[in-house]
Amino acid sequence: MKNIPVVMIIFGGSGDLAHRKLYPALFNLYEQGLIHDNFAVIGTARRPWSHEYLRGQVSDAIHETHTEVDENDVKDFTSHFYYQSHDVTNVEHYVTLKELAQELDDRYSAQGNRLFYMAMAPRFFGTIATHIDDQHLTGSGFNRIVVEKPFGRDLKSAEELNKQITASFSENEIFRIDHYLGKEMIQNILPMRFTNPLIKNIWNKGNLKNIQVTFAERLGVEARGEYYETSGALRDMVQNHIFQIITLLAMPEPENISSEAIHKAKQELLESLIIPNAEQVKKDFVRGQYAGSDTTFAYKKEPKVNPNSLTETYVAGKVKFERGPIADVPIYFRTGKKFKEKKNRIDIVLKHINTPYGQAYSNNITIEIDPKSRIFITINGKKISEEGIRRENLDYTFSKSELAEVPDGYECLLHDVFVNDSTNFTHWSELKRYWMFIDAIEDAWQKENEAGNPDIVQYAPYRMGPTESNHIFESPTEHWIYE
Ligand code: NAD
Repeated sequence: MKNIPVVMIIFGGSGDLAHRKLYPALFNLYEQGLIHDNFAVIGTARRPWSHEYLRGQVSDAIHETHTEVDENDVKDFTSHFYYQSHDVTNVEHYVTLKELAQELDDRYSAQGNRLFYMAMAPRFFGTIATHIDDQHLTGSGFNRIVVEKPFGRDLKSAEELNKQITASFSENEIFRIDHYLGKEMIQNILPMRFTNPLIKNIWNKGNLKNIQVTFAERLGVEARGEYYETSGALRDMVQNHIFQIITLLAMPEPENISSEAIHKAKQELLESLIIPNAEQVKKDFVRGQYAGSDTTFAYKKEPKVNPNSLTETYVAGKVKFERGPIADVPIYFRTGKKFKEKKNRIDIVLKHINTPYGQAYSNNITIEIDPKSRIFITINGKKISEEGIRRENLDYTFSKSELAEVPDGYECLLHDVFVNDSTNFTHWSELKRYWMFIDAIEDAWQKENEAGNPDIVQYAPYRMGPTESNHIFESPTEHWIYE
C-alpha cells in the first residue's frame, strides 16, 4: 500500500520522543512512499512555535539521524508539517485544531482520515481523549489513535483511561504502543518458535527447565528521579516490555499469523496467568534499590528522590501459566538499574539428561535483544584429543549490512499503524491481565510498607543486582544463566 492519505496530529510535537523517534521514522516512511503527497502532520505543544520553526526542528531531527539525505526530499517532507500551539486542558484549542485538520484535509485530499498520536506525559492522555470526543475531532474516513506507555498506573486508572479513549475509538482503532515489540529480535520470537522443529518440539514442560528474562540497565535514574518515584521498576519495565516478551514465549501456536489469530492465542494464554497472592509475592519476588559507592549516588540520594523512598529500582520474580505449551514451567525475570552492563536477553534453559559421557553442560537457547541482536544455542561436543565434553555456541547473528537494514522499532510500528496492522500492539484484554498481576504485587508491597516492614534490599551498584534474587528459584539446581 502506498501514499496513504491522512492528517496526523501529534500531541507533544516539541517533545523528545517526537524529535528523536517519530520525525525520523515518518521521514523514512515518506522516502518509502507509504505517506507521500496526501499527508499532513500537525505538531501540537505548549510552546509558541510557528509552522516554519517546527519544519526547522523536523529537518534537524532528520539530519541528526541520517548521514545522507536528499535535501529536496527533506524540504518537500517538512513542508507537510504544521504547528499549533495548544494547551491540552483548553477546550477552545481543540476547536482550532479541528479547523486546521479540516483545512489540511482539503488541501492534501486526506479523505477524512485522522491519526492521533499521544506523545505527551501520560497524565494528559485522558484529557486529550475526552476532548477529542467532546469536540468531535475524528474525521469522516479512518480514525486511529496511538497511545504511548504507560497506559495507566494500575488496573483502575487503565480502565478509566480506556473508557475515555473508547468514547471515540473502537478497540481495533486503538494502537497501544510498546516500542519493544518493534524490535527485530522480539519479532523473531514467534518465527523462531514455530518454524524450527528443533525448537518447537522441545518447547514444553518435559524439556524446559525454566526461562529467564533479564532487562539490565547500567544507568541509574539520571534526571528522571521525579517520574521514577511514581513508577518503579515493576511498572516501568515489567508491566509492558517484560510481559509482552513472556507472552510471546509462552503463547500457544496461533492458527495463522493474522493479527486476530495472534491476539487470540495471546488472550488464551493470559487467561491462565497465575496471579500471585501475598504469600507468593513474599517468596517469589525480590525488590531492591541501588546503594551508593565512592563514585556514585545511592538511589535515595538522587535528585528529586525522597530520601526515605521505597520505590524499587530492581525487581525479580516468577511468572507461571496454567495452560499453553509451557504450562507450569517457571519463567523468571529480573530488571533493574545500575547493573554491571546494559543487557536485555532471554535464556531458555533445557533440562539435564542422563548421558553415557557423564556430566554435560545444560543446553540453553539465548536470545540477545540489546545491545546485540543475536541468538545462540549452547551445545555439547567432544573435546579434541582428550576425554570429556566441551561446550560451544551455535551463533545466529546479523551481518553489518543486514543490521543496517533493520528499521528502528518506531518506524516499524508506525508503518503498521498506517497499514492498520495491530499485531504488535497491546490489546485491552492483554493489558488488563498484565495490570492484574502487577497490582497483586504492588498491593502486597504496599501492605508491607504500611505495616512498617518493607522487604526491600539495597544492592551494590554496577554488579548483578541483589544476591537475594538467587532465592526465587524453585529448585536448588536452578540459577541465573547470565551472571
Ligand atoms: P517530553 O517531556 O520530552 O515531551 C512532552 C511534550 O508534551 C512536549 O512537546 C510538551 O510541550 C508537551 N506538553 C507538556 N504539557 C503540555 C500541555 N499542558 N499542553 C500541551 N502540550 C504539553 O516527553 P517525551 O519523552 O517526548 O515522552 C512522551 C511520551 O512518550 C511519554 O508517554 C513517554 O512515556 C513516551 N515515551 C518516550 C520515549 C522517549 O524516548 N522519549 C520512549 C518511549 C516512550
